[in-house]
Amino acid sequence: MKKKNIIENTMHFLAHNSFLFTVIIMCLVHVTLLAITFFAGVPPLALSNVVSVIVYLFCIILCRSGHIMPVYISILLEVACYSALGVYYIGWKSGSGNFIFSIVPIIIFFGSYLFKEKKRWIIVVILALDFLMYALMYIGHGKMAPVFEISDVANTIMMLFSSFVMFFSVVFYTTIFIYSSERTRINLEQENKHLSAEAQEDALTNMLNRRGFTPVITKLMEGGETNHFCIAFFDIDNFKRINDTYGHDCGDEVLRHVSTVARKEMSGCEICRWGGEEFIILMKDYDMAVAKQKMEYLRKCVETTPTVFFNNRIPATITIGLEEYKNDYHEPDELIKVADERMYYGKQHGKNIVISEGGNVA
Ligand code: GH3
Ligand code: MG
Ligand code: MG
Repeated sequence: MKKKNIIENTMHFLAHNSFLFTVIIMCLVHVTLLAITFFAGVPPLALSNVVSVIVYLFCIILCRSGHIMPVYISILLEVACYSALGVYYIGWKSGSGNFIFSIVPIIIFFGSYLFKEKKRWIIVVILALDFLMYALMYIGHGKMAPVFEISDVANTIMMLFSSFVMFFSVVFYTTIFIYSSERTRINLEQENKHLSAEAQEDALTNMLNRRGFTPVITKLMEGGETNHFCIAFFDIDNFKRINDTYGHDCGDEVLRHVSTVARKEMSGCEICRWGGEEFIILMKDYDMAVAKQKMEYLRKCVETTPTVFFNNRIPATITIGLEEYKNDYHEPDELIKVADERMYYGKQHGKNIVISEGGNVA
């Protein structure tokens, strides 16, 4: 649990400070390159690394004050200049050209923050220029020998280092991207849950939810317009299997379809999505005999009209528990509980059935 928190907190920190983290890493990359080029005996390149370090130190200040555009431009120019100088002074074998690729994720990541909607074409142009630069350097290096001949060991170190920077860049930005989108999804789900609890209506089926339905039945029981009514508690059979076989989206479609059938067949009745794949129908002015007939009809309708989901026909059935309101019920929960228990009895006795009294099949 503690470990999970550390990872979560680190990811949260990196995702929220990714620009600052990028320039700090760029600065450290050039400190390392400064040391390598100095010991490899390439003073002009060591000097250009000093300039790069100074540029990134300024970028750190700019990042902290929220000036991302100048940071973005500085990174693009710095990497282009350094790669060109690297290839010019120590040749293609040093892997200096790799730095051009290592900034591809940065171009996209920073760019999508800076350029929104139609301005996103700018990112495409920068990516095209980035690759053009790489191609020109590759073509150019063949035409002239490098100014400095560095040792094979220095070349290997430089090549491995630039490859690592490229690798790190891809892994880092992909991870941050996945983390951020997962976080957004989780936040949206939480917000949705909160909103549905606040709202009186279920977002998937547009029916009343538990919160919206309870006052309706309470009002009737308190002697509103009528106190002659029945309720049916129904649950979709083997719904988990539908989700497991066809996916959650298909399950949602089955929920929508069954609620549409119920609404159509039971027009004039109040229907509530009680939760998950459970629904309650409130039949005002129905006595038990009529309610039984209606529920048997609804059960058959659901059974014979499969949900069509991306060319698949998914059959579904429902099990229904029925109860009629009597004066000795004082709370909605008491009435609902009886209907629920009958529904449960139906589940244990074959499903796809209507139960209207203690253990008897309608
Ligand atoms: P039974 O016939 O006994 O009712 O079995 P069941 O599989 O229908 O019942 P169970 O309680 O085992 O599974 C209900 C499933 O409904 C589990 C849950 O993931 C799924 N579910 C609940 N709400 C939703 C929803 O909004 N959408 C989808 N697709 N699935 C949901
Ligand atoms: Mg079920
Ligand atoms: Mg259920």
